[in-house]
Amino acid sequence: MSAVQPPVLPAPATWSGAADFETRDPASRQVVGRYGFATPEQVRQVLATARQGFAAWSVFTVNARCDRLGTWLARIEDETEVLAGAMTDEQGKPLAESRAEIGKALREARQMLGFARAHGGRTLPGRAPGWSNTIQRRPRGVVLAITPWNFPVLTPLRKLVPALAMGNAVVLKPSEYTPAAAMHLVRLAQGLLPDSTLCLVNGAGEVAAGLVAAEVDAISFTGSVATGRKIGAVAGGNLVPVSLELGGKNAAIVDRVVDLDAALDAIIGAAFQCAGQRCTAISRVIARSEIYDAVRDGLIARMQALIAGPGRDPATTLGPITTPAQLDRITHLVRSAELEGATVLTGGQRLSPESAPEGLFFAPTLIATEDSANPAVQEEIFGPVLTLSRFESDDAALEMANATDFGLTSAIFTDRLDFARRAMDALQSGMIHLNHGTAPDDNMPFVGIKASGLGTGSVGPSTLDFYTTEHAVYQAG
Ligand code: NAD
Repeated sequence: MSAVQPPVLPAPATWSGAADFETRDPASRQVVGRYGFATPEQVRQVLATARQGFAAWSVFTVNARCDRLGTWLARIEDETEVLAGAMTDEQGKPLAESRAEIGKALREARQMLGFARAHGGRTLPGRAPGWSNTIQRRPRGVVLAITPWNFPVLTPLRKLVPALAMGNAVVLKPSEYTPAAAMHLVRLAQGLLPDSTLCLVNGAGEVAAGLVAAEVDAISFTGSVATGRKIGAVAGGNLVPVSLELGGKNAAIVDRVVDLDAALDAIIGAAFQCAGQRCTAISRVIARSEIYDAVRDGLIARMQALIAGPGRDPATTLGPITTPAQLDRITHLVRSAELEGATVLTGGQRLSPESAPEGLFFAPTLIATEDSANPAVQEEIFGPVLTLSRFESDDAALEMANATDFGLTSAIFTDRLDFARRAMDALQSGMIHLNHGTAPDDNMPFVGIKASGLGTGSVGPSTLDFYTTEHAVYQAG
């Protein structure tokens, strides 16, 4: 059994009072961490000290800030095994996936430091000789970052690194289900940043809502659509800029391809990593009618070969579902899909693997349906569940892919250049992948449209604009 995480950090800016919340390894159901939630008074104090952190940090040059952040990233890299273990114990994903998440987070963060060093103002010609017009960018102040439980290292770093590089202070509120890794990230920054530049507040929705309503200068949120709407409404009322990265219902169109096995391998990777608990997980497969049977059989064979088990078992390729509520939701949505006429081709129920009989597992599930209104096609299930539908024409494939409220990511597998080109323009999602799964690159905007997001996304260079204000400065003579 894994070690119990320390309940309280020594960091003065990290608030974690009496033990209000236990985290449990979703594979063994054993307690792995105990945390206190911040009180309203502690929230007020941490916001006040973060303002002091901002005053101290924002006067550093961008290069000095990036140098220090680079040292922080090196410390994080050195602690990969500790962080990966903490993630696997609380979130459940296989250790190999936890390590890969940290590696990806570090690559993105280093790329971001490069963007940050080059980010800045521009000087344009003034209206008279000797005059100049300068576009200046300044840090916003205190940024609130709220993160979900599925990527405990990657998602915090996608917010902390650009925000800090631009000179802001950050208050991080990690998911109450996976705070251990985030707390360790903050601990590793100690001594590198002025006091209270990077603060962490533990708590659930109530604490987070208190932070959202407080005086902050920007809010970066990743999580569900329902929570995003609430935060957007409060931020709108307070006129605070907000970046919302929300859910997905991502489609993969499978057209005629020479290498169907490669396409199916990519789909399985994109659908079942993190047991499907990824906003960018492929959750709908739309197959050309003439290859439908081959796609169905290939998917089923691959899904049945996944090995469910605890994340610390090297044989495991499918980890558990992180919370009991999420497992109930998956079960409920699969039942609803069946009641509405869909057919479960494989899976469809909870699993009790020998290596973790008490764990929160759901079998890899393939649901056949031609009804675009079926709940399995419309609702974000956030688990190891794929739908399979067929198309007869290019028009129909694109229409089906776009027929949800979401617009995060989509993939198309095709050898036909005309269809590929058309899809690149027609697919209604922030990220579009031709002939590979839905893994984003380290230097590209990670962004959704429609119900999948609002405002600037993360990862690419445009992220830095979100963490700065813009000023038009005119100098005469
Ligand atoms: P969630 O919305 O329940 O919680 C996310 C965070 O918001 C947590 O820290 C939670 O404590 C906090 N929160 C809860 N109520 C709040 C409130 N009223 N005000 C402010 N904050 C509040 O999401 P989750 O279940 O942790 O994560 C799963 C969801 O996240 C899925 O919908 C998934 O698609 C989405 N997600 C999106 C992306 C993306 O980049 N688009 C990435 C990962 C996850």
